[in-house]
Amino acid sequence: MNADFDTYRLSDEHEALREAVRALAEKEIAPFAAEVDEQARYPVEARDALVKAGFHAVHIPEEYGGEGADELAACIVIEEVARVCASSSLIPAVNGLGSIPILLSGSEELKQLVLSDIARGAGISYALSEREAGSDAASMRTRARRDGDDWILDGTKCWITNAGESTWYTVMAVTDPEKRANGISAFAVHRDDPGFEVGPKERKLGIAGSPTREIYFQGCRIPGDRIIGAEGTGFKTALRTLDHTRPTIGAQAVGIAQGALDVAIAYAKDRRQFGKAIAEFQGLQFMLADMAMKVEAARQLVYVAASRAERGEPNLGFISSAAKCMASDVAMSVTTDAVQVLGGAGYTRDFPVERMMRDAKITQIYEGTNQVQRMVMARALLK
Ligand SMILES: Cc1cc2nc3c(=O)[nH]c(=O)nc-3n(C[C@H](O)[C@H](O)[C@H](O)COP(=O)(O)OP(=O)(O)OC[C@H]3O[C@@H](n4cnc5c(N)ncnc54)[C@H](O)[C@@H]3O)c2cc1C
Repeated sequence: MNADFDTYRLSDEHEALREAVRALAEKEIAPFAAEVDEQARYPVEARDALVKAGFHAVHIPEEYGGEGADELAACIVIEEVARVCASSSLIPAVNGLGSIPILLSGSEELKQLVLSDIARGAGISYALSEREAGSDAASMRTRARRDGDDWILDGTKCWITNAGESTWYTVMAVTDPEKRANGISAFAVHRDDPGFEVGPKERKLGIAGSPTREIYFQGCRIPGDRIIGAEGTGFKTALRTLDHTRPTIGAQAVGIAQGALDVAIAYAKDRRQFGKAIAEFQGLQFMLADMAMKVEAARQLVYVAASRAERGEPNLGFISSAAKCMASDVAMSVTTDAVQVLGGAGYTRDFPVERMMRDAKITQIYEGTNQVQRMVMARALLK
């Protein structure tokens, strides 16, 4: 045996990061999580604490004023915040989703402009979906056309996470309708650009603290150099982005599941029925063991996917989809079981597990539903 064998062990730096984020999350985010959900209000306390600590967008490279953290580190931040408040974990998660297209394909000037702003604390959203173009995102209708040196955007995007809070929006729009997916381009839009507006908040089952809104472009004029990459490459960039960000949704799901498991274990040790702690009943012990087993398996898959994405390995589609899909299915089943472990108490808002169960559901839907993830995996297997 060799105690220094480091394969399948996080580095000391990653463990130290987890400890630091967990401490911040317990102290500055957890106390507001129930209220944020109940009032469906944006978690400003979480945003301020994350920005102050530099945890709001750890993946931004140092040359743009960021932390320069790797993709596994970004997952650990999201996981630890989600363990106490899924709504708050969408701050680092969506800052990743919105900015990775620029990191992957943007010009140096655009990176300086937008990524430096994100590093300083501005938020960025990702706008791919439309009401009639969800799973089939390539059938989007939002248009962008040239006007002199500028671009003019027209259309409506929907389901945009953190819209209204974000300063920047990465927007996919059709520049050549004849070419379908190859006629889509990506743009960076600022909230002050003329012709840009946000709609009312959706009323949702979970992640109530994270605003989801439509965004409107009515003759929205942006400078020509705000295009992300070459014309016609926007859809490819959007899909490459998902290879890097689906593991982060997996991390969010693992965090939600871990939070529910922790509450369930503590409750089972404390609650007494038939003259014993309910944790002494084998029926509950088996449930807790299954929950923990699933969480650990999901975590390992997410970390492998994030590490492969960080290395820039080819063919990330299968592993990124597998990580997101499995972790979110685990989060749904573990949070549902956590409610069961708490019995009637679990069904009330006096305990956080009902919130965690409601929050878990979205991880099976966004960044591609789990049916779409299975399509991606099957395509990789059968090609
Ligand atoms: C809270 C929230 C936040 C979101 N945030 C963002 C965001 O920030 N940016 C963004 O761009 N989008 C965002 N989305 C959109 C999200 O990614 C879409 O909702 C998702 O991709 C599904 O699209 P849809 O809702 O139109 O469902 P549909 O595509 O209409 O799907 C309906 C059902 O049909 C199934 N289905 C569809 N096609 C197939 C197929 N070929 N085979 C088998 N089953 C299929 C789906 O799995 C699903 O079960 C968000 C959504 C929500 C609810």
